[in-house]
Amino acid sequence: MKKTSKLLTAGLLVLSMLAFAGCGNKQEAPAGNEAGQQAEQQAKVYVVGTNPTFAPFESQDDNGNIVGFDIDLMEAIAADQGIEIKVESLEFDALIMALGNGSIDIIASGMTITPERLEQVDFTDSYYTAGLNIAVAEENTTINGIDDLKGKVLAAQIGTTGALMCQQLVDDGIAKEAKLLADINICMLDLQNGACDAVINDIPVTNDYIKANPGVVKVVGENFNAEEYGFAVSKEAPELLAKLNAGLANVIANGTYDNLYAKYFTEAAAE
Ligand code: GLN
Repeated sequence: MKKTSKLLTAGLLVLSMLAFAGCGNKQEAPAGNEAGQQAEQQAKVYVVGTNPTFAPFESQDDNGNIVGFDIDLMEAIAADQGIEIKVESLEFDALIMALGNGSIDIIASGMTITPERLEQVDFTDSYYTAGLNIAVAEENTTINGIDDLKGKVLAAQIGTTGALMCQQLVDDGIAKEAKLLADINICMLDLQNGACDAVINDIPVTNDYIKANPGVVKVVGENFNAEEYGFAVSKEAPELLAKLNAGLANVIANGTYDNLYAKYFTEAAAE
């Protein structure tokens, strides 16, 4: 009796060890693990956050699709690198926070690479050189450049480099007020309604607005500065950053970038 039960116990022990070893094998075999990792990588869809009020870089078409230079360029880079992306709309001043809390993986939103932002996020190499300019209502004859902004009400999109410039002009005792509004289209409407005197915004976007809405606003004076746009990623995503930089370099080298540039800037400007 004793012997039988000992044997039985030993047998059960062996059986359970085998079962355990079997499980372990399944989970830990290198081949199986690799396949699992690959499946995980294939399943990963990188969420690209953008504020689609900034044509021609990003806007919404009549069907509500998010379209523009940034979107096409991001898609070309993703295709080159074999990664999948999904574009989501956010407020511009919420983008960096969204990257920080992991609700998005990439910012593609005409975002200027600035020292302040570089403290919070990483940027790819520059993909576009822009800068700021001043727009006033078409009929305005008194503001002809930065020197005429004394005592004026300025408007810009909140959270942007244009907003910083407006605030700087107020702090320097030049402008009277900086109105920081949700998006650039609202700024331009304020300008036409006389609710502000000048809008400070990115050159290509103001130029595009004027082309789409002729005869209502105009650019005055010199361009302020030069700014470089980059795609932003979390500081914890160096591999993704490397992929985006590699993809950007490839699409520049293979002519895709030039085709997109022509589609959104050269051809559009020549129309
Ligand atoms: N380039 C500007 C910035 O980064 C504006 C960007 C935007 O409004 N989408 O602040």
